[in-house]
Amino acid sequence: MSSSRYDAIVIGAGHNGLVTACYLARAGLRVLVLERRYIVGGACVTEETFSGFKVSTAAYVNSLFHTQIVRDLKLASYGYEVLPRDPASFTPFPDGRSLMMGRDPELTRKEIAKFSTRDAERYPRYEAMLERVAAVIEPTLTMRPPDLLRPRLGDLSAALSLRRSFQGLGDAAGEAVEILTGAARPILDRWFESEELKGTLATDAIIGAMASPSMPGTAYVLFHHVMGEAGGARGVWGYVRGGMGGVTQALAAAARDLGVDIRCDAEVARILVEDGRAVGVALATGDEYRAPIVASNADARVTFLRLLERDTLPDAFVADVERISYASASVKINVALAELPSFRALPGTEAGPQHRGTIHISPDQDYIERAFDDAKYGRPSAEPVLECTIPSAVDPTVAPPGRHLMSMFVQYAPYDLRDGSWDEQREAFADRCFDVLNDYAPNFKDAVLDRQVLAPPDLERVFNLTGGNIFQGAMTPGQLFAFRPVTGYASYRTPLCGLYLCGAAAHPGGGVMGTPGLNAAREILRRRRLRRVARRSS
Ligand SMILES: Cc1cc2nc3c(=O)[nH]c(=O)nc-3n(C[C@H](O)[C@H](O)[C@H](O)COP(=O)(O)OP(=O)(O)OC[C@H]3O[C@@H](n4cnc5c(N)ncnc54)[C@H](O)[C@@H]3O)c2cc1C
Repeated sequence: MSSSRYDAIVIGAGHNGLVTACYLARAGLRVLVLERRYIVGGACVTEETFSGFKVSTAAYVNSLFHTQIVRDLKLASYGYEVLPRDPASFTPFPDGRSLMMGRDPELTRKEIAKFSTRDAERYPRYEAMLERVAAVIEPTLTMRPPDLLRPRLGDLSAALSLRRSFQGLGDAAGEAVEILTGAARPILDRWFESEELKGTLATDAIIGAMASPSMPGTAYVLFHHVMGEAGGARGVWGYVRGGMGGVTQALAAAARDLGVDIRCDAEVARILVEDGRAVGVALATGDEYRAPIVASNADARVTFLRLLERDTLPDAFVADVERISYASASVKINVALAELPSFRALPGTEAGPQHRGTIHISPDQDYIERAFDDAKYGRPSAEPVLECTIPSAVDPTVAPPGRHLMSMFVQYAPYDLRDGSWDEQREAFADRCFDVLNDYAPNFKDAVLDRQVLAPPDLERVFNLTGGNIFQGAMTPGQLFAFRPVTGYASYRTPLCGLYLCGAAAHPGGGVMGTPGLNAAREILRRRRLRRVARRSS
């Protein structure tokens, strides 16, 4: 048993765990972070998977990371830098045409007008509508959601500020409700007529979701992706210099400077419970560490059902955790390339605008629906939706000179296959994805030097993400805000005194935001202050 004592232990060094650790340390607490992998970062990490390449193994673009955290922790001084991408997206079509969209409104207007002049005119109004809703929703991201089962005075002020924000929306309130709860497809169908535009926009609605754009809940995922301003302006996604690990390496350096003790290769096997409260953790090696505060960056299923004995938690709570949906259908393929893909729609192997943003292989909404149909019946899509990014086209530090790195995010590939196993299907599915891209960029397959294929069970194994769900739990209306991770426990507290959730499993959920970690730290410090006041006055 280790004799070390800490004020707080954080289980997991994902970006949220590190954010929590930093804010607790800034408040004067002695903090220990225990990470099961050899490296900090969780799903926001850079690894040298291929010699000489800096691979963002999981997350690959950044917009949501909260600017307050960057400022408070002076992350720029630790090397954190976002490289905005412009244009933001390029969608090639089978007929040789293409659609490019970005920050330049004139370029976007002209590009959309190739398919519909009506849509080109409407697009700025659509963006303005999303901005109005975002202005209301963004403040809720840093809010402690109200406790619907045991409302407190603080919840009342949260409810009132929500009501005020909604009132501010005026006539757009109905549309906001549809965005927060509804399906993306009817919204896109109402706004636009061009399938090319809708197919491009709809991809944002399905990222990480086991759902097609016509299913309720996907409008929020679409909206989630227009929030954030880490890329320099709202909804502008950027690359992090040196890969996404640039976020977590900067956080870890800031944490160390604040006195945080970070240990890698330190898997927590058990949360220690005495007299109904969490008092520390035991590692798989048997070492024990004690602290009155334990914050878990692992997902809810791992935290409550794997690290705790069931009889330490109320039965109803355990049943709620068992009901959380981890449905997932995302595969990540990292590819080392000898040259850039040359698209039939815009040929060239010199870095051009078609290489800088996200390359969507998603010609229309029906294509996405068909891809989902396969997954619904337990099959990886015959024609998958691809979202490819080439960070080396913007950031030469991630690949050796003359080489390139591609991140291929693929949907849909269900965790549970009806026939066979992922060990049998993994490489064949990756081949199919490569065939699909090769139809649009015929030099692609020949340019491949190496690849890493992460199917849902691989994401689970590598990152301890239940079901391979990239967001530590589906981002559906029933699992957001006051319902995340389960109703009555959205305030980062848990039924066990001293135990908190501080990762994407908690409000506001997945994505490299840092807000769950920030909010959890605030809540932990608030509870600590209250306990001290109570002790002093008793
Ligand atoms: C393939 C993929 C692509 C994605 N793409 C993007 C993207 O481009 N942009 C974006 O914004 N978001 C993206 N996301 C989502 C985003 O990466 C995650 O939502 C976010 O990184 C979650 O951060 P976190 O700190 O809450 O948790 P995690 O990153 O899941 O970190 C949790 C940490 O806890 C550790 N841990 C778990 N159990 C234990 C234990 N028992 N003992 C010790 N340590 C433990 C894990 O090893 C891990 O390091 C992607 C995710 C994936 C998987």
